[in-house]
Amino acid sequence: MKAARLQLIFFSFYFTINNFSWAQNLTDTIGEQKTAVILIDLSGGIIPRADFHEIEESFFNGSHSVNHFIRETSYQKTWISGQVFGWYEWSNRDKCELNYDEIFNLIQKDLDLTKYDRFFILNHVDLKMCAGTGFGHSTHGKVQLFTPQGSTFASVSQVQLNYRLVKPQVPFQKLTGISSSVIAHEFGHALGILGHANLYECGEQTISTNESNCNQEAIADMFSIMAGESYYKSTLHMSACHKEDLGWMSSRELKIIEKPKNENSILIDLNNFEKLSANRPSAIKIPLENKIPVVREKEVYISNLFLEFRTPSGFNSRLLNLTQPLDQYYRDITWVDANNKTKPKVDIAGIQIRGGFYKDGHCITSYLFDTKPNSFAFQEKYDYSLYDHLDAFVTKGQTFKEPYNNIDIKVIDIDSEQAKLKIIFN
Ligand SMILES: [Zn+2]
Repeated sequence: MKAARLQLIFFSFYFTINNFSWAQNLTDTIGEQKTAVILIDLSGGIIPRADFHEIEESFFNGSHSVNHFIRETSYQKTWISGQVFGWYEWSNRDKCELNYDEIFNLIQKDLDLTKYDRFFILNHVDLKMCAGTGFGHSTHGKVQLFTPQGSTFASVSQVQLNYRLVKPQVPFQKLTGISSSVIAHEFGHALGILGHANLYECGEQTISTNESNCNQEAIADMFSIMAGESYYKSTLHMSACHKEDLGWMSSRELKIIEKPKNENSILIDLNNFEKLSANRPSAIKIPLENKIPVVREKEVYISNLFLEFRTPSGFNSRLLNLTQPLDQYYRDITWVDANNKTKPKVDIAGIQIRGGFYKDGHCITSYLFDTKPNSFAFQEKYDYSLYDHLDAFVTKGQTFKEPYNNIDIKVIDIDSEQAKLKIIFN
């Protein structure tokens, strides 16, 4: 668990040093993303480099590439094209990454710098020297860049290529199910996602109106690429809150449900999250009149609920593995049940419910609610904060209760393609 905790800190660090600016247009996130992948050796050639072909495959062509992931999670609205350039060598072994001027001067003879939407700088570094510099970071959306060939708007992401969770693997990294989870995560930031996929955790309760019982776990939603990478990922799709913000769901596909005028409840069918349907929404958004506090002093509140019915398909197909004994994938967790002999498994035939924190009209952070509190703990300390959300599926017959607004969400029925829900405004 130590490693996971350390990694949480890394990502939070990068989150806090980037300020809340918003440079992108929505149109930037739709369609082809022309991407230049730049390989830079800052190690002085002392360690073997990652394989050029594997890097190419993991960005653009491979079955589990970042391109295929972005295509799938955007419902085919966005994709990545481009080329890998390099290797470039930096003669002094005194840096863990270069500044923009150094990068553009190094590569300008080989490419038209004003033609790209995204720059991905893959730094091959001396890990000992660069320990503590983190896995990667990115601009949030496009920024204005001044290159020797003129000014341009593009995002810039830099990652430390040598780290295990960054280094591309074909077809995919065992832990994460994608060729490079860190590169895909940084691509999310490059497209404009400012925050992460967090957990909302209130101990024994799903949501407590005594807010001192509740905390957030930063970047710990193990079902989204916008969380950290050091634990087993069973699904990778971004949350509906982030997808809507990137322009990947229309108002028909993400249905907003508000309290009806003459009734106090609504029956609605929810399509599975991985596909779009002409008949049913693939996610539901419920605006909250009374916001749920997360960090009151920093004005972080959950202002919308999102309902998602995730099913095992595509980059979410490893969801099925949660129905097997969980100790294969999560060695640190322990299961609490009456006889304490059953190996932990999860019933995935249910919906997940997340909250969304917004700033300046944009979804910053999504928060997965723990709808089955105190079921999975860490082995040593019986700490329920990190793995407890693995079974947070509201299954048939169960009801999620939102106490700040008295909204109940009941799953009436569920099959492989849709969930029938009743939303009650009490
Ligand atoms: Zn991040």
